[in-house]
Amino acid sequence: MMRLFDTAAGEVVPFAPGRVATMYTCGITPYDSAHLGHAAVYLACDVLQRRLRDLGHSTRCVRNVTDVDDDILRKARELGVHYLDLAAEEMARFDADMKALNLLPAYAEPRATSAIPEILSLVDALVSSGHAYAGAGAVYFDVSSAPNFGHLSRLGREEMLALAAERGGNPEDPAKRDPLDFVLWQPAAPDEPSWESRFGPGRPGWHIECSALAMRELGPTVDLHGGGSDLVFPHHECEAAQSEAVTGKPLARHWFHVGMVGLGGRKMSKSLGNLVFVGDLLEDWEPDAVRLAVLAQHYRSGWEFDPAALDLASARLDRWRGAGKGDAGLEDVRRLLDDDLDTPGAIEALDAASASGGVSAGAALLGVETAYSSEPGRRPTGRG
Ligand SMILES: [Zn+2]
Repeated sequence: MMRLFDTAAGEVVPFAPGRVATMYTCGITPYDSAHLGHAAVYLACDVLQRRLRDLGHSTRCVRNVTDVDDDILRKARELGVHYLDLAAEEMARFDADMKALNLLPAYAEPRATSAIPEILSLVDALVSSGHAYAGAGAVYFDVSSAPNFGHLSRLGREEMLALAAERGGNPEDPAKRDPLDFVLWQPAAPDEPSWESRFGPGRPGWHIECSALAMRELGPTVDLHGGGSDLVFPHHECEAAQSEAVTGKPLARHWFHVGMVGLGGRKMSKSLGNLVFVGDLLEDWEPDAVRLAVLAQHYRSGWEFDPAALDLASARLDRWRGAGKGDAGLEDVRRLLDDDLDTPGAIEALDAASASGGVSAGAALLGVETAYSSEPGRRPTGRG
């Protein structure tokens, strides 16, 4: 029985999806390259999928693309390009990086702009049922209509207000009845894309995109909803509130959040400019070393990037490859992954096992290829 930490429960609980495990992970806004923080989220989901498949499940992992929001529109304006051209370029770069990291292909990678009709029908349903209201050309979700609001993040009102202010939730917007109400539909600036609706021309809010896409691709309830821990509030809390208001069903049976990667003592973020891009790492290191360096950290713990981790990972790969093919340590890896996806423990188990036998089967569960050669030194480099 696999056990995983569930954010809403606040503890490690059994994770037992049906034969087909459905997973929804919030994807990128394609306006800049993928950084190590993104890689950490998608690698954790990737190892989880590999173990689920090893257990006999099939997995359907949907990762959306937020191709219309404030960030991409601002960047496109700065560059003087069409926002969808910017999206296409960055999506191609992201796909190449994730493929190089040997990520399992997503079941679907739907774009927010593909779901405008679904988004509008959700907004319509929310207004009709009294969960949302229009004002100043926008439509807002009424959090007072969702008694459960805050159940996922387990935060009090003051903490939610502080985070909403910090993460673009505009709590001071005068058209809101409650500062925690959030936007479902908003008017577009003159140079922004806009769609007709009965609430007036405009574009969707960010949270509603994921509700619409998760529902369209995977149904009203997914087995697991994942993302970076900075998405717990407001993004996932708001997604859950609006989805559940429409369907009366939980949006996710299990909430899976990955800790933040830092650099220079601060969380890696666009606004601080302290990013380590996946593409840059792949110029200097083979993909399996990048993968192992990330997986040497537990997915839930925040950690600080240190380039020395790549030297360690590279040396480790040499040892594992030198040990040849075999399933030494495999049962330990399975047991450790089932214990809240303990990848650092699994890596240590393979280190120990590689002293006496080949570890290629266990390494494969981590998505790391060690079996193609038993001769150290014979391995692909760079993006190859
Ligand atoms: Zn999302």
